[in-house]
Amino acid sequence: MNLLTTYLKDFTSLFFPDVCQACGNSLVIGESVFCTTCIFQFPYTDFHLDAENTLAKQFWGRIHIQSAVAFLYFSKGGKVQNIMHQLKYNKQPQVGIELGKMYGNLLKDQEQYKEVDAIIPVPLHPDKFKKRGYNQSEQFAMGLSEVMDIPIINDLLIRVKSAESQIKQSRSNRFHNIESVFETRETQKLLTKILLVDDTITTGATLEICTIALQKIGIKEINIVGIAFTQ
Ligand SMILES: [Zn+2]
Repeated sequence: MNLLTTYLKDFTSLFFPDVCQACGNSLVIGESVFCTTCIFQFPYTDFHLDAENTLAKQFWGRIHIQSAVAFLYFSKGGKVQNIMHQLKYNKQPQVGIELGKMYGNLLKDQEQYKEVDAIIPVPLHPDKFKKRGYNQSEQFAMGLSEVMDIPIINDLLIRVKSAESQIKQSRSNRFHNIESVFETRETQKLLTKILLVDDTITTGATLEICTIALQKIGIKEINIVGIAFTQ
């Protein structure tokens, strides 16, 4: 950068400073995406340190998975709600990447995340993808992928519009609100162990359907990783 561009950048940042995506305060040199105060105050779950955490327990008796974790607790009116709003509705995909990098740094040394073949983000409905321009779960996956050195496979799991009959066939009421069903493409690659990545996990119904679809093609070890968990 020459002196003039440096000057112009400083000048522009007087009017359009980079702001923290959680609290809106201006970022200082050395900070990116989130300010130091927010990073210090985020409601971390520490689920990766407890195999029998609340989220994992939620899947007991529903599906057989290796583990389930989420980075942060989601609460209405809290900072995590701001973050998720920026990521999903305010065209700030870097929020997902940054959170992925932060979480990846915590997960990469854990025994259960060794020898993972691929990261599979939950696909966005095609209409939503068109509108948003990116899949927020995939952005999170990109951050995880960079830090954990695991490739992303984003064309294996596909979201298709639900046929009424398929919904009716589902065995439980909780599937009724899901707009789409998931299918898997034929895969040449042999996948044994994967990370299935989502944004905010609430009931886990979407993840349940994805897991069943992935198990049908022989993936044995499924580890769920979310950005946030709503209790
Ligand atoms: Zn902040």
